[in-house]
Amino acid sequence: MATTVRTAFVRNAPNTRLPLTSIAQFLSHINQERLSALNLIEAYHQHVQHAQAESNAYTSDLTVNIDAPQVQAMLDGLSQPRLMAVPFAVKDNFCVQENITSCASLMLQDFVPAYTATVVQRLLNAGALLVGKTNMDEFAMGSGSIDSWRGAVTNPWDTTRIAGGSSGGSAAAVASRSAIFALGSDTGGSVRNPASYCGLVGYKPSYGHVSRHGLIPLVNSTDVPAIFTHVVEDARTVYDVIAGPDAKDSTCLTTPPPPQRDSKLNKVKVGIPQELNVPEYQPYLGFWRSVAERLEEHGAEVVPVSLPHSEYANACYTVLCACDVASNMARYDGVEFGHRSTASDVSTNAMYAATRHEGFNEVVRGRILAGNFFLLKRSQQEYFLYAAKVRRLIVQDFTKVFDKEVDVLCMPVTFGVAPTLEEFKKLDNRTQQELQDLFTVAASLAGLPAISVPIAMEGHLPVGIQLVAPNRQDNFLLDVAQHVESLYKFHEKFSLGL
Ligand code: GLN
Repeated sequence: MATTVRTAFVRNAPNTRLPLTSIAQFLSHINQERLSALNLIEAYHQHVQHAQAESNAYTSDLTVNIDAPQVQAMLDGLSQPRLMAVPFAVKDNFCVQENITSCASLMLQDFVPAYTATVVQRLLNAGALLVGKTNMDEFAMGSGSIDSWRGAVTNPWDTTRIAGGSSGGSAAAVASRSAIFALGSDTGGSVRNPASYCGLVGYKPSYGHVSRHGLIPLVNSTDVPAIFTHVVEDARTVYDVIAGPDAKDSTCLTTPPPPQRDSKLNKVKVGIPQELNVPEYQPYLGFWRSVAERLEEHGAEVVPVSLPHSEYANACYTVLCACDVASNMARYDGVEFGHRSTASDVSTNAMYAATRHEGFNEVVRGRILAGNFFLLKRSQQEYFLYAAKVRRLIVQDFTKVFDKEVDVLCMPVTFGVAPTLEEFKKLDNRTQQELQDLFTVAASLAGLPAISVPIAMEGHLPVGIQLVAPNRQDNFLLDVAQHVESLYKFHEKFSLGL
């Protein structure tokens, strides 16, 4: 791979404007002005430094080696890969060979994986250039990217506010135009939430459509590699490159998806979950109603639907997540890889305990403890198995509405614009999750494709809307998202002015 790790970030503002925000724009620029391509790549590198200085978006930057033969071959026109020289960033929980993959945790601060995640490899094979690994909540446990060993990520639209989480670094990287697109992981909402707060498209594909090989796990049954872009078309392009079966991930589906539903707006039935339409949420959800009305004006049929069990989604996720965390984190014991404490050499067990105490933050330790409790023989039935049953009911609610009533659901992503760091920090991680994941986590439990599309500004801050489609109707979802995008034209109207 044509990259080398640089550890020191330079604090300087970019001196080159980068108006390019879509893959198509970038490629046409490169194709027309091949000679200035190197300057363009260098300009992105400057923006990485800027995104780091302003938003703490990265955990490491990877200087693209522009002399590398494959980069030169691209720029000399000898090869024309699909994502030729397109700069992208990757959340620091995706393994990249020979580069530190830290999950923003002291535990993995020096961990250098022996292989590259399938999704990253596919992007590199398509010619994209990796500019850096992005900051996140430690091991992706969080909703605001403030629980990172590398410090909080801040929102490029207003650096007193959170960027959302847990993939906040990837969102900040794209919003501040240091990368044209970025990968995050969405387990309960971690890409849709920061996308909404940072004015981006955040697309979580159907579970099983995109390989998890090389993604350090949080909740194995809901983790999905997901995509940040400025426009829906780019999310589709990146998805096309990374999706598809992978022999290295047995949960990757090998059968083709069912036929696509008709996505002409006058053929689409949009469902509005009534459980969310309650007086206590009303003050926050004006944008949601406006989208429903606009879709109706443009020919879609909008109907109320019921998802009676989704109110338990957060509680259900909390239990299932902790159980997976308890087993997934067991590997970090100071022996095979990662941090090893020197504080105690009394016994192996004491070394394990000290290592884990030093290496993990309080959030991770808390979830490990909770998960081990939920999995105890005496509590398993009451917690783990009960949560698994509730999850089934949540899935059945979605199946019912998508089989019989509607083609797509329209929901809020968050309660509004990004909160300030100060107000967010007052809440504990669990309460943050309850508020931030309220609208996103049910679709994760059901493995459904879901997308956050930026629609409007409230004051100086962006806000998005969420669409959720039936299982494996990813292309249909992207079509509907493109309709919504064209109704609001967020991307044409609002820009950070970098
Ligand atoms: N906020 C949720 C959690 O803390 C989801 C995180 C995610 O999607 N990675 O577990």
